Amino acid sequence: MTSMTADFTPEGTTEISRVLADTPSAAELADGGYLTGPEGQAVASQMRESQLREALLLGRCGGTNDVNAFYQLNEEPAEEWMTRRELTIAQYCAPCPIAAACLELALRYPEHPRDLAVRGGTTEEMQLTLSKADHERLAKACALDARPAEQRVERLRPAREVKRLTQSHIGLSVKPDVLKTNHTELKAAVAHHERLQGEYRRVTGWAA
Ligand code: SF4
Repeated sequence: MTSMTADFTPEGTTEISRVLADTPSAAELADGGYLTGPEGQAVASQMRESQLREALLLGRCGGTNDVNAFYQLNEEPAEEWMTRRELTIAQYCAPCPIAAACLELALRYPEHPRDLAVRGGTTEEMQLTLSKADHERLAKACALDARPAEQRVERLRPAREVKRLTQSHIGLSVKPDVLKTNHTELKAAVAHHERLQGEYRRVTGWAA
């Protein structure tokens, strides 16, 4: 794990990417205190959905049976709920080691229907305000989250092409004068496939 000397201002996103690349797991980020407070928000904003969900497993509420602490009960008067949720935030979210990741996930993928859930140490009203203020960035983050699935489909096409060319282009029945051309085509198809595979690995893992 890289020592905590990184620049976590919005201008420091390259630095954050480097820290994420050097950090193999959400547990290490949480242990290092990288997922709380304003710095944690900057880090979480650079994480992919799968990484945020991995972090969520480390949330302080993870082991509790008191799920209702995070939701307004049916028929519960608003004032009672507001008092109760402040206690929830103080008891669970304030000391939670991954609160920033939790909030980032809630802002990117809000629950439907909205049911007044406490997330990342914030009330739903606050989540709505933050979503609105950060709408463009969140939309871009969601688009990046979707890239691995899209790239997987893109990657399968050239993989099939490599297989087809291998079967039809370099067999014993192929005439020697066309064999050289076929080899060139096959090499280009393999290189294309490898490039897509590299890109796919970069967007799915912790690599920058
Ligand atoms: S910030 Fe709060 S809601 Fe989110 S994981 Fe931690 S305890 Fe749970």
